Amino acid sequence: MRAAVYEGTRELYVREVSEPTVGPHDVLLKPKYVGICGSDLNAWQYGMFEPGVIIGHEFSAEIVGVGREVAAWSIGDRVVPNSLIPCGECKFCSQQKHSLCENMQMVGISMNGGMADLVSLPESTLYHLPKSIDDKMGAMVEPLAVVLRAFERARFAKGVSVLILGAGPIGLLSLLVAKEKGAGRVLVSEVKPPRLSLAKSLGADDIVNPLQESISLRLESLTKAQGTDLVVECTGAPGPSSETFRLVKRGGTILVLGICEEPVEADFMTGVLNELSIQFSYLGYAEFPKAIRLISSGRVNPAPLVTRVIPLERVVEDGFELLTGPSSSDVKVLVQI
Ligand SMILES: [Zn+2]
Ligand SMILES: [Zn+2]
Repeated sequence: MRAAVYEGTRELYVREVSEPTVGPHDVLLKPKYVGICGSDLNAWQYGMFEPGVIIGHEFSAEIVGVGREVAAWSIGDRVVPNSLIPCGECKFCSQQKHSLCENMQMVGISMNGGMADLVSLPESTLYHLPKSIDDKMGAMVEPLAVVLRAFERARFAKGVSVLILGAGPIGLLSLLVAKEKGAGRVLVSEVKPPRLSLAKSLGADDIVNPLQESISLRLESLTKAQGTDLVVECTGAPGPSSETFRLVKRGGTILVLGICEEPVEADFMTGVLNELSIQFSYLGYAEFPKAIRLISSGRVNPAPLVTRVIPLERVVEDGFELLTGPSSSDVKVLVQI
């Protein structure tokens, strides 16, 4: 079968590999659409994943085989797998802090994922995909679950003003979630104009391009120099991450979702004097059913975020190389298997 195999920095190859084995509690999946995630791009640029792993952790699939002990799933079922497989036994798991699990497996990162003709996963990772969610939107469940969990961790409250830094997939999903949860004014900052117009069309009240205009000046005029209640950092860049301290209101919250490779300078004096809260958030886990409900009911519609669909054979050239290039204005690129 074909698979996108990660071998290290700038080394991703679509090649023939042998089909996976199916254990008694495993389900054999035929992936449909697989999202290319920022963490996949980071791994490609900087090296992070297990060499030899088949990537792909955001995907929809159809069941084409079941292990002999599997009773709850049938061939033909449409599913989305959880990307995080916690051990269920460590002290973090016993406290329901699954994303901190000491022995976690991550689909497409530490074990084989969905960018292949077939993948075998434990049945416990799967969720049913209802008819109301097509295969493309099934691939958006995982990133939405990540954002939902982050907003819960930041104790998001109705009516708060929000500034989102970075309008990539996670930034734009944050915009959709903020609006769905009844945010006040939402300002989105982004350097790429097409992403900025997409933010506007998805309901951002204001947009700002920091290459043309200072975010703090714009925020000052919008909030009468008060700052915003919540800043959601989705750029993963050190500059904007540092700047969050000057943008948030006294008593406000900085929610960090962007993964910054370099250390970030933090203005702790402002943090203390203004009694700021900083909340970091990494993965989603228990939020998958909620993400499925939100997409299924149409309350969150991530369809406009998918800017391109490419075949598996072109994943390096039209996916990873283009997306990490300076001129890409894509948001979410899906790989069709
Ligand atoms: Zn991801
Ligand atoms: Zn654990």
